[in-house]
Amino acid sequence: MMKIAEEAEKIQDEMVTHRRYLHQNPEIGADLPKTVNYVKNELLKMGYAPELCGGGVVATCGNGENQKTFLLRADMDALPIKEESGEMFSALNGNMHACGHDFHTSMLLGCAKLLKKHEDQIKGTIKLMFQPAEEIAIGAKGMIEAGVLKNPDVDAAMMIHVFPGLPSDGKFVVLADGPASANIDVFRINVKGVGGHGARPHETVDPINVCAHIHLALQVLNAREVEANETFILTIGEMKCGDTFNVIPDSGYMRGTIRSYGKEVRTFIKKRLVEISKTVAETFRAEAEVVFEFEAPNVINDQKLRNDFMRYMDEIMVDNVDDAKKVYDGKFAKITGSEDFGFVSEEVPALMVGLVAGSPADGYVYPLHHPKARFNENSLWKGAAAYTHMAMRWLEEN
Ligand SMILES: [Zn+2]
Ligand SMILES: [Zn+2]
Repeated sequence: MMKIAEEAEKIQDEMVTHRRYLHQNPEIGADLPKTVNYVKNELLKMGYAPELCGGGVVATCGNGENQKTFLLRADMDALPIKEESGEMFSALNGNMHACGHDFHTSMLLGCAKLLKKHEDQIKGTIKLMFQPAEEIAIGAKGMIEAGVLKNPDVDAAMMIHVFPGLPSDGKFVVLADGPASANIDVFRINVKGVGGHGARPHETVDPINVCAHIHLALQVLNAREVEANETFILTIGEMKCGDTFNVIPDSGYMRGTIRSYGKEVRTFIKKRLVEISKTVAETFRAEAEVVFEFEAPNVINDQKLRNDFMRYMDEIMVDNVDDAKKVYDGKFAKITGSEDFGFVSEEVPALMVGLVAGSPADGYVYPLHHPKARFNENSLWKGAAAYTHMAMRWLEEN
């Protein structure tokens, strides 16, 4: 059983090569031509027959001995962030793998190599899913619509996300069962007023005033309308009104996200966001329109898969698995970030696992999505070993 971990460690250098290539060539969104090409070619070299699917790549492995299929997922897209990590292999094209998806792709390529070597021992089918557009929450959905969970039908699925800037470097962090990440709803509030001269505000309907009032009014959702035990976040990250000091603009807008857990509170907040925006705007003689731009459901961690994972990892990496409930005293049992793997977890039993890739004590101080974020590459082989062992053992037992 220890063998998989040792074998993974032996291909660490290859994964570092993948990672640095991907890191230097970050692509964003749904269309990742260079990345897809790279992944496809690497899989071809290993003897796979990769197929394009919904902007991503799918490959299968195994002997199909029984009917079960286990899916392993990696995302491949970067962020529109100008890199300031200081790494010698920093990206120069204005995008950055600041969410570690270069790690996920490299780890799954490493896993693909290990699986090929042990193909005759796979008791079923393992499907590898390399997806685009996680950051805009349309990648997994697009691949599901293109049939990634069909033919052969997927019975269970798993993903890993790396996290720099946390203690316990190199450990797996097993998130809660039930909601493990947040529902995300991205919205835009368009406010329409009447513009005019800054010296004659009574002749205008000032959208800046309206945006300010909507922003403040929305804070009441946290303070007064949702039960204190319920966790949710509403953030306005963008507000744009006007271009200069002495002109009242015609219109303005705000964009933000809602992060929530469970369906009920999610529906309630979305409804109140619309009501509050519209009625506050009306109060000041303006009009507001709320547009939901994109969304993804929370990842629901399957309890059995979660327990299986912890048991399987004990077979290959003793003392290397932390239960978030235990380690972070409940505070990190679920994340407030979102993961479009939630769409997969709506369809099949699924598991999202964290892997710490660099601790503050060793200088990895910045979190995901930070332009200065750095990641400890020593986590690569661990991710590859975990993907491989999880899929093979699950098929053995199911
Ligand atoms: Zn991200
Ligand atoms: Zn991510």
